[in-house]
Amino acid sequence: EATAAAPHVVLLSSPGMGHVPPVAELARRLHDALGFTATVLTYASSDSAAQRAFLSSLPPAISAATLPPVHLGDGDLPAGAAAIETLLSVEAERSVPAITAFLSDLKSTTNLVAFVADLFGAATLRAARDAGGVPGFLFFPSNLLMLSLMLHLPRLDADLGAGEFRDLPEPVRLPGCVPVPGADILQPLQDRASDAYRWMVRHGERYRDAPAGILVNTFDAAEPAAAAALRSPEPWRPPVYPIGPVIRHHHPAAAAAADDATGCLGWLNAQPEGSVLFVSFGSGGALSLAQTRELARGLELAGHRFLWVVRAPTNAAAAAADGDNPGESYYDGCRSKAGDPVGFLPAGFMERTKGLGHVVPSWAPQTRVLAHRAVAAMLTHCGWNSVLEAVAAGVPMVAWPLYAEQRQNAVMLCEETMVALRPRVAGGGGEGGLVLAEDVAEVVKEVMEGEKGEAARAKVRELKEAARKGLEPGGASYETLAKVVSEWKGAGQATE
Ligand code: UDP
Repeated sequence: EATAAAPHVVLLSSPGMGHVPPVAELARRLHDALGFTATVLTYASSDSAAQRAFLSSLPPAISAATLPPVHLGDGDLPAGAAAIETLLSVEAERSVPAITAFLSDLKSTTNLVAFVADLFGAATLRAARDAGGVPGFLFFPSNLLMLSLMLHLPRLDADLGAGEFRDLPEPVRLPGCVPVPGADILQPLQDRASDAYRWMVRHGERYRDAPAGILVNTFDAAEPAAAAALRSPEPWRPPVYPIGPVIRHHHPAAAAAADDATGCLGWLNAQPEGSVLFVSFGSGGALSLAQTRELARGLELAGHRFLWVVRAPTNAAAAAADGDNPGESYYDGCRSKAGDPVGFLPAGFMERTKGLGHVVPSWAPQTRVLAHRAVAAMLTHCGWNSVLEAVAAGVPMVAWPLYAEQRQNAVMLCEETMVALRPRVAGGGGEGGLVLAEDVAEVVKEVMEGEKGEAARAKVRELKEAARKGLEPGGASYETLAKVVSEWKGAGQATE
């Protein structure tokens, strides 16, 4: 409960289980370490059972509220056809009046000292201003490479002329960041004629002047040169504050009591230490049918223990009608379609891998799996939450990017941070490529038992340690957040 004196923050999260947890964890950190009360504000479109369960597990000092629904089906936004980035951006834009009203109300009943919006919410910072001058900050849930791309996007867009990013002869170079080939740049930027592209440029423009500051879910040791570049003030953009990793919190008591509905933890308990590859593609990632089968055969060939969160293939409906579809592309990974995921695995796979692997449909308790002593490595789609969770657990990765900014994350992890290995992609890394079973087996063996895997494991353990130290008093991320909130408290004239 908010008392008259406790400083209060409102944090607005974009829809989705890749977005809500880090925002809510930031709220928890502001409460636990710094004495704030908070409201986590979500959109009407983002209500789900998983989200409700997650939000209700937060301490009582953090309340949850949902915005009223906004209309998302006008002529400029054909229902069903719009890209996810467009939908999230339009929902944010159209929610500004409701957010303004919400903040004005809270301002009269609590000691409201700041409003924080996440990556698609730069437009909503106007609501903080309109509600009576509450400072508006951005919480950027990805890394500095991605933030730098967004901040430089208006210029990069102008420089592209008539071409696409993938046509650039040279990789994109951002200050302090690993050079990224154009084809690996953020997926919605791969088609300049798309609505999603225009929205990303508009967000980039707003990032440059809307927020009073940008909190970033990364830490200095993970991106030292980019952190040095972005920590130094520039007149053309807000100050940038690396405060991460902000990842899902473990309550040891709750974890022990929680049931293990998927059987993942029970199965892991029976496996030797450091023997299991965890395979997961984030909250919604899925592969084509052909790629699912290559991955299955590859895991079988590699002969290492695995725990695989299987999704129905992206082309599940077509696959069910036509049988196999070998032309399907590795790059085609996107949100999973309905269907029983296990039914799409090769015939006899479950029986043959009985002693070796555990397959769970759709969802695993990922942070608890990564923390388990039996897990040696993770094959990941490189969503930034998953990467931070793997790093915090000291687990090296195989990079298998699908969408969003995952391909550029993979470049960073494999070529700069050196905590991940890449499989060979037959037919090139772009569209039309497929990772064949033999190449899956090779990269799995390398990460589990090879020299490169050992080097990645040593590196990720260093990063784990650096991340832990950064979050303690005196550490870079801890002190950075403390500095930001002391300004909020000062502005709100809170008693300490
Ligand atoms: N996650 C999970 N179990 C799963 C798949 C995902 O708990 O089976 C969690 C994972 O721990 C992470 C989030 O969902 O916190 C996924 O976020 P990420 O940024 O990695 O990817 P996205 O879902 O946004 O693509």
